[in-house]
Amino acid sequence: MAGRYDVIVLGAGAAGMMCAIRAGRRGRSVLVLDHAAAPGEKIRISGGGRCNFTNIHAEPKNFLSANPHFAKSALARFTPQDFIAMVERHGIAWHEKTLGQLFCDNSAKDIIRMLTDEMRDAGAQLRLRTEIGDIDQTAGGYRVSTSEGAFEASSLVVATGGKSIPKMGATGFAYRIAEQFGLPLVETRPGLVPLTLDPQLLQRLAPLSGIAAPAEIRHDKTAFREALLFTHRGLSGPAILQISSYWREGEEIMVVIEPDIDVFALLKKAKQGNGRQSAQTALAEILPKRLAQHVVESEGISGNMADQSDKRLQQLAAAIQSWNVKPSGSEGYRTAEVTLGGIDTACLDSRTMQVKTIPDLFFIGECVDVTGWLGGYNFQWAWASGHVAGEAA
Ligand code: FAD
Repeated sequence: MAGRYDVIVLGAGAAGMMCAIRAGRRGRSVLVLDHAAAPGEKIRISGGGRCNFTNIHAEPKNFLSANPHFAKSALARFTPQDFIAMVERHGIAWHEKTLGQLFCDNSAKDIIRMLTDEMRDAGAQLRLRTEIGDIDQTAGGYRVSTSEGAFEASSLVVATGGKSIPKMGATGFAYRIAEQFGLPLVETRPGLVPLTLDPQLLQRLAPLSGIAAPAEIRHDKTAFREALLFTHRGLSGPAILQISSYWREGEEIMVVIEPDIDVFALLKKAKQGNGRQSAQTALAEILPKRLAQHVVESEGISGNMADQSDKRLQQLAAAIQSWNVKPSGSEGYRTAEVTLGGIDTACLDSRTMQVKTIPDLFFIGECVDVTGWLGGYNFQWAWASGHVAGEAA
């Protein structure tokens, strides 16, 4: 056997490293195993390289889960303020960008360095480039067979993340371990992901590729107000990523462009004030020029504003502010920021993340059926679930 520890953590991502720090600080001997060449690869690429490491407004309502109450305990016990305190202890400069989203001033690598320094200070060992094989329950806990030999520990914490971005080492390994131990899974699907459109619609919208506009995207009772981006595959931008976690194949979403403006009232005013103006020129006051041109052309509007009946103007405004669109799909795990679903929270103790029926086995982070909105919420879940497991493992 290559070594025995109190705690083995599988996965040196956000949740795994936070768990290792907490367990190590409690005096537990900790080994963190990862098949990647470097720890925290998703942290490195997050937030455009500046890591949106938390959200000061993080509350249970910002998370999707079959049990909306499950995340409450961990989120209350390790808050955004707790993470900010750690960031500040390490002298990492940060700023609030928008909507409570906190980013590093310099680089996401500052956060990785902070976590690896904390792990070292806590005495936790990190082994990278280690392929994990069989996991067996033993009389003394767990035995993990790896490419570097077998390791044993009293507690096993699974923190191997979800399926998003396989190119970055995501494997869905946690779900296989859950299945091995007979634990229930909530169906997984890509979240925070761009939505695609059918080829015909995509062809019509091709001239809009690259255009962004403020929008409200609605699905059922959920709505997000952020930027919308037209792409060569379909629709993206923060507002679309947010709604994608709520949307299911075959369903429609409603797009309201410039939700703070009453476009019909604006067009009527333009008609009264400057009847010789074209509809396109009037719309270009509030919309990007190419978008204004596209809407006017696709609604078949010609002539100047004085020629347009109120009904026509209403129709034009509706094309901009009540656009019902049925996405054909999503870009999938290839570009999804997170994986929805995962280990069913019904089998976990919300205070510790420990499996209720199996002693000393824990699941934390993205592999669990708790998924945050876009904006730092997913890291906050990784820190919080990692922290509470580290307190108990
Ligand atoms: P991960 O960070 O995915 O860590 C899992 C670890 O397990 C990895 O190190 C992996 O190598 C290892 N692993 C996986 N399988 C195996 C295996 N079979 N054997 C051994 N090791 C294995 N969230 C935010 O809050 N803010 C952001 O700014 C943000 N930006 C993002 C940008 C992108 C492009 C992406 C993809 C995601 C972003 N997220 C962001 C989401 C965030 O990265 C995740 O929610 C978070 O990393 C989950 O943490 P985790 O520790 O559970 O999993």
